[in-house]
Amino acid sequence: MFRLEKIYRFKNSSGSIMLSFWLSHVHSKPTQITNENFNMQTYGAEHDKSLGIPGEDLENILSARRFVGWYNGQPGDENLNPDLSTDTVAVLGQGNVALDVARVLLAPIDYLKSTDITAHALEALSKSQVKRVMLIGRRGPVQAAFTIKELREMLKMEGCKSVFQQDDFKGVQEFLPSVARPRKRLTELLAQAALDPKAEWLEAWKTAERSFEPIFYRSPAAFLPSSSKAGTVGAIKLAVTELHGEMSETQGVKNTGAFEDVKCGLVLRSIGYKGLPADPDIPFDSKSGVVINSKGKVKGLPGVYCGGWLGTGPVGVIVNTMGNAFELGRLIEGDIKDGTINATTARPGYMEAAKILDNKGVQTVSFKDWEKIDQEEQNRGKAIDKPREKIISVSEMLKVAAN
Ligand code: NAP
Repeated sequence: MFRLEKIYRFKNSSGSIMLSFWLSHVHSKPTQITNENFNMQTYGAEHDKSLGIPGEDLENILSARRFVGWYNGQPGDENLNPDLSTDTVAVLGQGNVALDVARVLLAPIDYLKSTDITAHALEALSKSQVKRVMLIGRRGPVQAAFTIKELREMLKMEGCKSVFQQDDFKGVQEFLPSVARPRKRLTELLAQAALDPKAEWLEAWKTAERSFEPIFYRSPAAFLPSSSKAGTVGAIKLAVTELHGEMSETQGVKNTGAFEDVKCGLVLRSIGYKGLPADPDIPFDSKSGVVINSKGKVKGLPGVYCGGWLGTGPVGVIVNTMGNAFELGRLIEGDIKDGTINATTARPGYMEAAKILDNKGVQTVSFKDWEKIDQEEQNRGKAIDKPREKIISVSEMLKVAAN
């Protein structure tokens, strides 16, 4: 997990041998595949979606993606400085990213100290005034986008109670027998937490000082300014929604025409990620943020492939992305075997790229170099009883790599 996370962090840096480097320094165009037998676009979905509603430019409305970057050590997000002086945070969206940020905001500081969270986030969270995190979704419990493992961890978090509106669960239990796993197990757990919590949860929730509050059937309509802190968000105007059609995971949503305002001092927008185009020659669907492809083959560009969230959209957990990578590998193997890709001539590939980078005086990071950084982070962590202390500055990473 650490390795994947670390590689992810490298991807954006100007000092890596990963794709961003490749695109900007090695090829004038990523579609130019003269030095390779084929080209694979796998740079993920780095952008996040916005809501496009009034007031979205108020202060203290942040993207959950950047908040995750802030506590995870993504270079560039270290100065995010989320305002944690408020007691109420609204997280918009009900996916795993939303649940992840809620967990970090609500977790006991002693627990966070034992993780590899960044030092600056730990410092800020140790002074946090946040007591209540609302997780606001436009649809119902049957359509929640988070997964059961993450919910389970939230429900048993020390010092935090879960608060549900029982009315949101009307008809859910009757619907359960017709639902397939894993949705069935997730919905059962949600319904249990809302309608019939385990005795051990209730006991723990009695003394909890913080609360996790999933709110269903509410869609953000506007952000309202704070009356006490000029220029910052003070509340969200929520449209009350209802679902149409038969109860199902994919039910559509519409506004009822009713609205309500909820107060909050910080908003984390967590409504999904979006990929960006790297080259105008690569067919790209700007609406969904994916390269237009058929099972990984980029449309109209033989020898160019795409994979991961750039090809599938930002869906699925790590195991799904791994499955996608294996499929892509098999696809390319098949294309080599049947001659779709000309692999009979050896091409310089990475060696040529390394030469170009070297001539430009750009420091590259080999896997061995990366291991040095990894080890240094672990050493720094050991000294303060953490699994690792992350290096945030890219220039510092490069210095360690060069040693
Ligand atoms: P996600 O799972 O797609 O969830 C997005 C959420 O935002 C949904 O609740 C969605 O509601 C809502 N939403 C989207 N557009 C909206 C709008 N205009 N107004 C109001 N709500 C809106 O996205 P994510 O949380 O960013 O996660 C991305 C992927 O990474 C997921 O597959 C997730 O499981 C995975 N991930 C996994 C982990 C983990 O394994 N721990 C951690 C992080 C992320 P609707 O359903 O109504 O559209």
